[in-house]
Amino acid sequence: MTIEAQGLRKCYGTTVAVEDLTFTVQPGKVTGFVGPNGAGKSTTMRMMLALDRPDAGVVLIGGRPYRALREPALTVGALLDAEATHPGRRAEDHLRWMAQYNGLSRRRVHEVLDLVGLRSVARQRVGGFSLGMRQRLGIAGALLGDPPVLILDEPVNGLDPDGIRWIRGFLRSLAADGRTVLVSSHLMGELQDTADHLIVIGRGRLLADTSVKALLDET
Ligand code: ADP
Ligand code: ADP
Repeated sequence: MTIEAQGLRKCYGTTVAVEDLTFTVQPGKVTGFVGPNGAGKSTTMRMMLALDRPDAGVVLIGGRPYRALREPALTVGALLDAEATHPGRRAEDHLRWMAQYNGLSRRRVHEVLDLVGLRSVARQRVGGFSLGMRQRLGIAGALLGDPPVLILDEPVNGLDPDGIRWIRGFLRSLAADGRTVLVSSHLMGELQDTADHLIVIGRGRLLADTSVKALLDET
């Protein structure tokens, strides 16, 4: 399933966060969405998830606007930057709550905990989790609906090398399953080993839209 951003524009007051942004994200690949802090990555991802409304342009997921998707949580899984988790809640209860909030079955809670390697800590409280464990829990939440499309905002930000390596491998395996994986980072180096394709933005505008292979062959 593709994600198509067409002519996106978004302003906050006098700040132009995103301007004339057009690109397509293909399935079966990890696509890195790169740009410095403030470039407009989160704003773009929020528009993809219909959490923010574009001032111009549209986002299509599998050819439809997000709001027109029949069952959004079964189509798109998301991990947003610094997502809130209730520290007193057990990991499995957090996922049950997420499933309920998103209108999904709780059936997959233990399956997704297995997938991200958190089964053994399912009954521990999230407050005691490292950042890496919280990010895995967030990714587990994004996978509850077994969606073909994943949108992940800065999933490796602040993680240690082991945590980064694990998420990289996991994202590759999700893409190898044929999913569409869009992952942002403010560090190009964080994504060049993980991504097949890079979309680079700066000051809200598209700077590059290239396969990583083409980029490496040029340099
Ligand atoms: P990135 O995710 O690449 O760091 P953002 O999309 O968060 O970039 O921000 C793009 C620009 O829009 C920045 O100048 C930011 O301060 C501004 N911005 C983002 N969200 C808001 C908001 N809710 N209100 C005002 N300005 C915002
Ligand atoms: P990032 O740079 O990773 O997007 P931020 O700290 O800039 O993270 O933004 C976190 C949240 O605050 C987002 O929801 C964003 O939309 C909002 N935000 C960002 N910049 C501003 C701003 N200048 N005024 C109000 N809200 C903002």
